[in-house]
Amino acid sequence: GVSRRGFRGNFVPPIKSNGNSSGNMSSRIAGKYDDSLDDSTKKCLEILCGPDGELPEKLRNLEPRLIEHVSNEIMDKDPNVRWDDIAGLEHAKKCVTEMVIWPLLRPDIFKGCRSPGRGLLLFGPPGTGKTMIGKAIAGEAKATFFYISASSLTSKWIGEGEKLVRALFGVASCRQPAVIFVDEIDSLLSQRKSDGEHESSRRLKTQFLIEMEGFDSGSEQILLIGATNRPQELDEAARRRLTKRLYIPLPSSEARAWIVRKLLEKDGLFKLSYEEIDIICNLTEGYSGSDMKNLVKDASMGPLRDALRQGIEITMLKKEDMRSVTLQDFENALQEVRPSVSPNELGTYDQWNKQFGSLS
Ligand code: ADP
Repeated sequence: GVSRRGFRGNFVPPIKSNGNSSGNMSSRIAGKYDDSLDDSTKKCLEILCGPDGELPEKLRNLEPRLIEHVSNEIMDKDPNVRWDDIAGLEHAKKCVTEMVIWPLLRPDIFKGCRSPGRGLLLFGPPGTGKTMIGKAIAGEAKATFFYISASSLTSKWIGEGEKLVRALFGVASCRQPAVIFVDEIDSLLSQRKSDGEHESSRRLKTQFLIEMEGFDSGSEQILLIGATNRPQELDEAARRRLTKRLYIPLPSSEARAWIVRKLLEKDGLFKLSYEEIDIICNLTEGYSGSDMKNLVKDASMGPLRDALRQGIEITMLKKEDMRSVTLQDFENALQEVRPSVSPNELGTYDQWNKQFGSLS
């Protein structure tokens, strides 16, 4: 017999796939590829089919396993972040609402002169809420959210990054309105490293820019958000396509207070006075949002450690045995959790913001 090759390039024994995928669309899809597709892949493709049961043009030449990866791993069905979950950043929220949420909700109004940019850059120190903003945008605009870290394209998907990028933009275009969030976008769109740059990473970058160009000109409802904490690495071509560039700075003292309160309240552990919160804020100058989260985590271990120190067995421990979280717990935690961003780095962001940031 003639050996057949499946999509993964492996040998596929000449046995018909089991008959439980007897739906019309399944068999049509399976017919188009081959019987080696497993049911989960078929299901994935089915969902992306148009009313005519045909796979959209853009997806037809892509490998099913990549489409499946995008649908299952990169697409986030429930981003689950709202504006109210994000502390501070009022300026960024306002800009983003006008620039991207309204246009996604009312494409009929935002055309012509009002047609929005399709590329947004969020830059600033790590752990300040850039990813949260991306998710909140998708949530508020009722858009499908796709999250990919650019470094995974070069590290995990060696040699396949280009194909995955095509699959990503292809699936997004079937799932409009869509928000594609590319974390660490600098690693993808960095300034050309002259001769040292690998051919493959150059091709990946080109593919990415081509895809962006594609939906930028058309009427597609796709927004690309790039996040980076190294904006200075982006080259001119990347800056040109990311037309809006918003600085996401470290949280203000009010925002830090809000994060502490919110996290403790959620667990019913909040018992601090205004004065105590104030002291915590003063001691956490320079802490990022994620540093604050780690601080609260560490502080909230205080009561537990105390109870155990008094000889209570962890298995016997009751919630009532634990005191509430105190200022002292925070002071202890401050010894463990240090700010992750140096003042030096902040200067770089300010400078880049002055030169390239959108201040509106
Ligand atoms: P970034 O993408 O800027 O590196 P993230 O959005 O992933 O940072 O934030 C990491 C975590 O830090 C969040 O899950 C959240 O718990 C906390 N955090 C950061 N910034 C904020 C903020 N402004 N408000 C509330 N929580 C925040």
